[in-house]
Amino acid sequence: MADTPTIILGVPRETFAGENRVAMVPAVVQPLAKAGVAVWIERGAGEAAGYRDAEYEQKGARLASRDEIFSNAQIVAHVRVAGANPSGRDDMSRYRAGQIVVGMADPLGEPAGIREFASTRTTLMALELLPRITRAQSMDVLSSMASIAGYKAVLIAADHLPRIMPMMMTAAGTITPARVFIIGAGVAGLQAIASAKRMGAVVHAYDVRPAVKEQIQSLGGKFVELPVETTGAEDKGGYAKELGEDFYRKQRELMAKQVAESDVVITTAAIPGKKSPVLITGDMLKGMPPGSVVVDLAAERGGNVDVTRAGETIEVHGVTVIGPLNIPSAVPYHSSQMYARNVMAFVLNFVAKGEINLSLEDEINRDTMVAKDGEVVGARVREALGMSKPAAAATA
Ligand code: NAD
Repeated sequence: MADTPTIILGVPRETFAGENRVAMVPAVVQPLAKAGVAVWIERGAGEAAGYRDAEYEQKGARLASRDEIFSNAQIVAHVRVAGANPSGRDDMSRYRAGQIVVGMADPLGEPAGIREFASTRTTLMALELLPRITRAQSMDVLSSMASIAGYKAVLIAADHLPRIMPMMMTAAGTITPARVFIIGAGVAGLQAIASAKRMGAVVHAYDVRPAVKEQIQSLGGKFVELPVETTGAEDKGGYAKELGEDFYRKQRELMAKQVAESDVVITTAAIPGKKSPVLITGDMLKGMPPGSVVVDLAAERGGNVDVTRAGETIEVHGVTVIGPLNIPSAVPYHSSQMYARNVMAFVLNFVAKGEINLSLEDEINRDTMVAKDGEVVGARVREALGMSKPAAAATA
């Protein structure tokens, strides 16, 4: 081992109801140790994700109690923290001032949770705010989790569908393939296209960002052309911009035929920091074949379908409408593996040779830091809270 680990990265068990993921996996323990970071993990923390205590120990992690972790770690890594975990309030008195806390904190969806968390006087780093730059790709938890969600959405749809997905030529006749329509072709949507194609479906997809047309086609999907003006639909970070209710009304009208011709619709459309646009109404479902399935991956952020009920499966006009919550937690082994690698890359960006240097000259640190020394920092969260001026410590 190159250096003796001097920094302790603590990993407590997740406390959010139904959360099966864990922020660290055994395979990542040794690479961290090589960089001078020792992993302390709460006993049983990886169990729900399929990682046993003994595996962490074999790789050199130290098993510890929750209290030991909070009292000794310089860095605490969670999957969910602050705004993303209301049940985390029980830990508020355990954090120590100056500790660095890393996790998904839902800073723009639940900014009040960041304000509350700031009272711990820790330095909170919200991974959702990572800049979408090449250097940060290995840390990008949103992309990791969206890949898992896109794949799993297709399985959920297939499981509820009264049809099979692929074409099948049998002695009992030929079965035509299912028709799948994916709305939003970002990370989740592209993974859903690839997964539905692999299952043999005929796949159509649409996105307001015209740049994705080629990506859809390269996965074997058909790009649905809508006669709407989408110039300026993409911001400089590669995200969709909010386009206004007139645009969405027109989009709904134009997509109605494609929806009606589909056995499965998977919606993934999102605008960062905003409520998701309503792209399908209950009325539009009337045209779909009986037993069709809609999986609304935006359910957590308001939903792309106006009848979606977050966390529920309902039937509307004979169509099954599913609003799944926390899909990555349903595939906890691999989502934890990806998340842990993202956390490692993020931590090793500010740790070298056993020393922490959380420099704000690095936009990765600057953009993700949302609380420090008891203050909410970072322009985007402060703006979401209606706070006047960004605090001096970390203006994004
Ligand atoms: P996202 O989750 O914010 O949105 C999902 C998709 O919904 C996006 O493709 C968006 O354009 C689309 N959408 C929004 N409104 C829509 C509407 N009205 N109709 C149809 N579609 C709509 O986005 P994401 O998946 O996280 O990523 C978006 C882009 O960022 C992708 O091009 C991705 O490749 C890119 N990206 C870049 C990096 C990087 O450079 N580090 C990392 C991750 C993602």
